[in-house]
Amino acid sequence: MRVLILGGSQEARELAASTSGERGLEIVSSLAGRVRDPHLPEGPVRIGGFGGTEKLRDWLAAEDIGAVVNATHPFAARIGANTAVATAALGIPLLRILRPAWSEQPGDRWTRVTDLDAAARALTAFGDRVFLTIGRQGVGAFAGLTRQWFLIRAIDPPEGALPPKHELLLTRGPFAVDDEIALLSDRRIDVLVTKDSGGDQTEAKLVAARAAGLPVVVVDRPVLPEGVTAVETVEQAREWLLRTAVRSDQDSIR
Ligand code: NAP
Repeated sequence: MRVLILGGSQEARELAASTSGERGLEIVSSLAGRVRDPHLPEGPVRIGGFGGTEKLRDWLAAEDIGAVVNATHPFAARIGANTAVATAALGIPLLRILRPAWSEQPGDRWTRVTDLDAAARALTAFGDRVFLTIGRQGVGAFAGLTRQWFLIRAIDPPEGALPPKHELLLTRGPFAVDDEIALLSDRRIDVLVTKDSGGDQTEAKLVAARAAGLPVVVVDRPVLPEGVTAVETVEQAREWLLRTAVRSDQDSIR
């Protein structure tokens, strides 16, 4: 069975590594091509968007894909929606890997908001020095804020409008708690803005904020498309793929 893993995340790489070479499975990974120097998964990789739902559906059919695992970042909503539609049209089984969301711990001062625009509005209640760790996309939601100074951290430079007062910090996690505490103090940060990505790669900033007693604006994840099954771990996804391969094998014998 040919399998498409929609990747770009650590989980996608782990799943490709743990299923490549597995009897009965042929894995192809896909990356959006957003990051200039991506960590590549094991096995065949294609890079770049498919060109929307219909082209994705055509690609799945042409490549004879028997199952899809969407292991992209929890905030990659568009590809998730497109994939749900395309796989449903072809009757291809689809699974979403969604690592557990972060949860507030004692000592945390979180404000949860539904999207980046709401995060920008929420900032009026806090101090002037903001640590923005939402990745490269979506920084434009803060471009109209002229009072605050922003420390913007991302892997690659954000495109489009940026807030007038800012410093750009281009770097890739994982980050250590001590380094995050030092960064918060060095830049005299008053408040953090983060997406609820979950996972341990970028969690250190939350631990650092707790230690420093700083407020954090946390953007909630987008809603999962209707009817899509989700699991939390790579191991669960691997088991699902093996079960799906057996079922597809039985169907082809019948
Ligand atoms: P998105 O809004 O869901 O996707 C936008 C478009 O990018 C999709 O419609 C699709 O283009 C293309 N795309 C996204 N993921 C793809 C994949 N794995 N393979 C092929 N095409 C893909 O996603 P995004 O926020 O741009 O995220 C893109 C990538 O960055 C993903 O791999 C994600 O895991 C990673 N990432 C995202 C975030 C975040 O916060 N959003 C953070 C860290 C890493 P077509 O419509 O042309 O097919």
